[in-house]
Amino acid sequence: MATVLVVEDERDIRDLLRRYLERAGHVVLTAGTGAEALRMLEDGAPDLVLLDLGLPDIDGFDVLRTATRFVVPVIALTARSTVEDRIQGLEQGADDYVTKPFSPREVVLRVAAVLSRHQGAESRDEESYGGGRLAIDSARHAARLDGAELDLTPTEWGVLTSLAAMPGRVLSRAELVNRVRGYEFAGYERTIDSHVKNLRRKLGGDGASIVETVLGVGYRLGLPHDR
Ligand code: CA
Repeated sequence: MATVLVVEDERDIRDLLRRYLERAGHVVLTAGTGAEALRMLEDGAPDLVLLDLGLPDIDGFDVLRTATRFVVPVIALTARSTVEDRIQGLEQGADDYVTKPFSPREVVLRVAAVLSRHQGAESRDEESYGGGRLAIDSARHAARLDGAELDLTPTEWGVLTSLAAMPGRVLSRAELVNRVRGYEFAGYERTIDSHVKNLRRKLGGDGASIVETVLGVGYRLGLPHDR
């Protein structure tokens, strides 16, 4: 059983998918717009997103990029059936692709296949830093420092995992905003500092040496990646 977020502006299709997925034992969340989908992704990562790429408000690819940043697998649903769209979707991180009109039973089977593939790949996905001091488990969306679980907001999680993806490398505020939010967000570059401050507080006494400030440039992870 998994939590599946269905992002689709056509109510009939949304309801049809909900019915079939619930029958297969999943918990189903639905969003009718891209903005709603982004909010739901940030509020709590679902296990999988079924994503209509043709949304009324924003480009479905924006939602796709956000989902992949949260390490949530995506099956793209689309009326676009050209090879270019398919390739673009897969390149941007979609795990699978279904072209409308589709059979809901086939979608349910693909959901099961992507979930098992993803869980298999993610279970060996814990990365550790600084000789095991910091551990980041993307599958569980969890981080621990010195064995204690950190209670992070989605933005703090995004900052920490973005820095940890490139240990030792400095990321500017603009780069961090881009990685964490994926799209331009007015005034956000200044508020990234307050998220860093909160993240450091949660990291305790060594917070400022784990998330280091590089004056005039940005931030970097101060712990080496364990190999
Ligand atoms: Ca649509």
